[in-house]
Amino acid sequence: MQQKILINGALVEGEGRVENILNPQNGEKIAEIKGASAAQVNEAVMAAENAFGAWSSVVPAERSALLMKIADEIENRSEELVRLESLDTGKPYARMLEDEIPAIIDCFRFYASACRLLTGSAAGEYFEGMTSMIRRDPVGVVAQIAPWNYPLLMAAWKIAPSLAAGNCVVFKPSENTPLTMLELAPLFQEILPSGVLNILAGNGPEVGAELAKHPRVRMISVTGSVGTGKEVLRLAAGNLKRTHFELGGKAPVIIFDDADIANAVDTIRTYGYYNAGQDCVAACRVYAADKIYDEFAEKLAGAVRTIKYGDISDPDAEIPPLITAKHRERVDGFVRRAVATGHIEVLCGGKKVDGPGFFYEPTVLKGALQDDEIVQQEAFGPVVSITRFDNSVEQAIALGNDSEYGLASSVWTNDVGKAHAVAAKLQYGATWVNTHFMLPNEMPHGGMKQTGYGKDLSMYGLEDYTVVRHVLVAH
Ligand code: NAD
Repeated sequence: MQQKILINGALVEGEGRVENILNPQNGEKIAEIKGASAAQVNEAVMAAENAFGAWSSVVPAERSALLMKIADEIENRSEELVRLESLDTGKPYARMLEDEIPAIIDCFRFYASACRLLTGSAAGEYFEGMTSMIRRDPVGVVAQIAPWNYPLLMAAWKIAPSLAAGNCVVFKPSENTPLTMLELAPLFQEILPSGVLNILAGNGPEVGAELAKHPRVRMISVTGSVGTGKEVLRLAAGNLKRTHFELGGKAPVIIFDDADIANAVDTIRTYGYYNAGQDCVAACRVYAADKIYDEFAEKLAGAVRTIKYGDISDPDAEIPPLITAKHRERVDGFVRRAVATGHIEVLCGGKKVDGPGFFYEPTVLKGALQDDEIVQQEAFGPVVSITRFDNSVEQAIALGNDSEYGLASSVWTNDVGKAHAVAAKLQYGATWVNTHFMLPNEMPHGGMKQTGYGKDLSMYGLEDYTVVRHVLVAH
């Protein structure tokens, strides 16, 4: 297991705080990872700044070739990366191998191609005798901070577009799940020029905050909780860094009474609980129309009872445990408080699983009301709430939008007009119709409201890591 951090093309021992890395399947310690010290954060930022002049001048075709090489190497080493990521996060091997690894590889390949296609508006004469043109240039040193729910995937979403655009990067994985990115550090060391990509380890309040306030970091991108986003925004104000936030979510799932119920049940059974609900787009806040409310709730609970988990190597295992004991307590707290309302009924699940590891039973809560905590706040666990609504487009929009989060949403109906009417008014970065969770690399992913701003994926993600500039030539 590679445990050194990557600074300026050299693998070095972290000199900061030691973090214990636990296996969520059984709670046992896997490793002790030494984080970066403040001095090492500074070294990494200065290395990125020094590398920027040369890297930003590398033509897109060459940057593209290097990103393609990273994708190929990840593909070659996918079995090994799956084992390590699963050890660190508790993900079932099959899910990691079949779902995440292809998306990670494709993300690097997509941006390897996309960086050759960054074109702008045509040059023109807007003052007589002067030609104006638009450039899209890299921002400079970009710091990136990732969460623990999809360690490699979130790294790909951040690193691929920012390097493709010609920036130099200092990347910090979550202190809970640094193993795969550290494992890949020698690969980045071999493929990329020194300083172009630096990989640190360490916690948020020390290493993350050091990056957020560093005066030579020109942009910071964070995927994490709303609280972390706000703190980073405060720290970033010191030098007016560009900020890019993908924060929490609480996706509304609006099911009209003409929807294909079997399809809705099947999809929510999968994407309400995928990754044990530790997912910012999880289909966790269901609104079911009056007429189908009881039938839907019963069928969903029946389906959710069949979700398989426990043995990471079972090809049929569907969900992991929660990431830490503390997070499991947090999720359980949401369920306990929901039950204490007196009007919420637990149709299935609702308890910690006995035995080693941090498993939580996939849970369906019926009878939730709009103001309930479980409807308004992100639990980030395998818990789906169901709330009744009157089947009107107006109420669907009002309830759906009544949230501080704004990442993802879905609408379920066989009436295409109704689907459009609701989709057009939902204040979420994405709305899926008759499905949920679909995230092609070609399409933007990002939020509104307190989920933050900034796009991951797609050409918009690439553009976010560039600055629009005007160059004018007097004839
Ligand atoms: P978190 O906010 O605790 O941590 C995320 C990252 O921020 C970690 O690397 C952490 O070290 C760092 N961090 C924490 N405090 C910091 C500080 N003061 N300064 C700088 N960095 C700091 O989140 P988490 O628990 O790892 O992840 C769960 C959260 O992430 C959920 O809210 C989830 O919705 C969100 N998330 C959002 C998306 C999205 O695309 N919108 C995707 C995945 C996860």
